[in-house]
Amino acid sequence: MTVMVRAVCDFVSRGAQGMAEENQGARQTRKQAICRKAQRRHSRFYERCAHWSFNRSGEVEPIRWHREHLVLAGTALLITLLSGFIMPAWASAMRPAPTPELHSLLPLALPKVAPPDASAATVDEWQVVRVQPGQTLSDIFTARGLGMADLQKVLDAAGDARSALHGIRPGEEFDFLLGADGSLNGFRFDRDQASRATIRLDGTQPTVAVQQRDMDLREQVAHGVIRSSLYAAGDQAGMDAAMVGKLADLFKYDIDFVQDLREGDSFTVIYDDIYRDGVRYGQGNIIAAEFINQSKRYTAYRFRKADGNYGWYSEDGRPIQKSFLRIPVDFTRISSTFSVARMHPILGRMRAHKGVDYAAPSGTPIHAAGDGVIKYHGWERGYGNFVVIQHSSTISTAYGHMSRFVKGQHVGERVRQGEVIGYVGMTGLATGPHLHYEFRVNGAQRNPQTVTLPKPEPLPAAQMARFKAEVVKPQLARLTELDARIRLARAGAPANHDN
Ligand SMILES: [Zn+2]
Repeated sequence: MTVMVRAVCDFVSRGAQGMAEENQGARQTRKQAICRKAQRRHSRFYERCAHWSFNRSGEVEPIRWHREHLVLAGTALLITLLSGFIMPAWASAMRPAPTPELHSLLPLALPKVAPPDASAATVDEWQVVRVQPGQTLSDIFTARGLGMADLQKVLDAAGDARSALHGIRPGEEFDFLLGADGSLNGFRFDRDQASRATIRLDGTQPTVAVQQRDMDLREQVAHGVIRSSLYAAGDQAGMDAAMVGKLADLFKYDIDFVQDLREGDSFTVIYDDIYRDGVRYGQGNIIAAEFINQSKRYTAYRFRKADGNYGWYSEDGRPIQKSFLRIPVDFTRISSTFSVARMHPILGRMRAHKGVDYAAPSGTPIHAAGDGVIKYHGWERGYGNFVVIQHSSTISTAYGHMSRFVKGQHVGERVRQGEVIGYVGMTGLATGPHLHYEFRVNGAQRNPQTVTLPKPEPLPAAQMARFKAEVVKPQLARLTELDARIRLARAGAPANHDN
């Protein structure tokens, strides 16, 4: 974390400053003297140049092209000569002449090799093989000079762990233990994420031993400031792309990361990384996060609900996941906003536009804005391929101009929030591929961009108390402390933009 490093550097430099304070007076006067001198030179230079002008006489001298050509050709020739001829010659002249090797070979006493001793314990030399794309297990066996009979022995010995050997993936590792004659003495593989199986074939009977791997979660803390993009900020904070994706996913209901993100927005995240046998294995979950978007603060805390499942909640105990997605499509731009009167691009007359048009490439998936039941599914004049979802007794959403529907969906079917219900197109009255999206309350269209979405229900009282005490209180304290430390580091650090 650059911020932390900066904080440390800053602390060190401040310490040094304190020690050098007595010298500061003398240094200050010297500094001022240098400054004055520089200013004098600067002003003298400008006095001299004051009468210079780029167009002194006011009339433009005609450019003589033939002369220009000569100058250009001359320069080009000079560069060619320099780079192609003179410089290599010069460079080789500068190179030191090869010095004759002066060292002679000295006899080196080699450590005595221990005589072969049957009683000495030998360490098994396992060969580690990483699966390449397109490789099968039999390919790997063949490459080691082993046959199908060996593979069959391994599969037989593996017992119920053999399922792990079906459908191997690139990057997986297998260890082979080969005898001096090339026969297969042992085979090691991952039985699952957290255990490794070792098969020994060098005894009288094949044996299989399962070793549990050391899986642990390690908490990480990251703080980022948006300069160009969320992913760049996350990368700078030491997060991998998958974790940045999780962060964006958490706040997508409150922040439109395409439209709302601003330079200077920031985030602080506490999350888990999964370590296996002390090596980072993958990313875990976000434990707590805070996002400042245009000076507005959003929070998310992970909480284990009464049913044992985890969910993310804002500080006031309401689910982060809202009843509705603000935008049901991954769009490129808003081509038309909600208005009571606009000039229709095709009809050429004023007409209300009671939805928002999200332009996106044809075929982009369209998601159900919330859980609900399909109420309309088919062709509708003007709307083209059209879907309406009823979410509650009062709220419905509508989706127009689809290129195609999702096969098998029909009126009366339940859909979940985020489920794909069709694909962007330009059927009906449309000049280009886009989703026409409507949010309807009691059948009347409301502006989807500004309509107040119903707030999700907070946690029930008993769980709320536990959430506040066990999650918010300790994690908020950590986030606050982190923010304070970062602010302190930033206040002390010189203003630069390399973080
Ligand atoms: Zn529209």
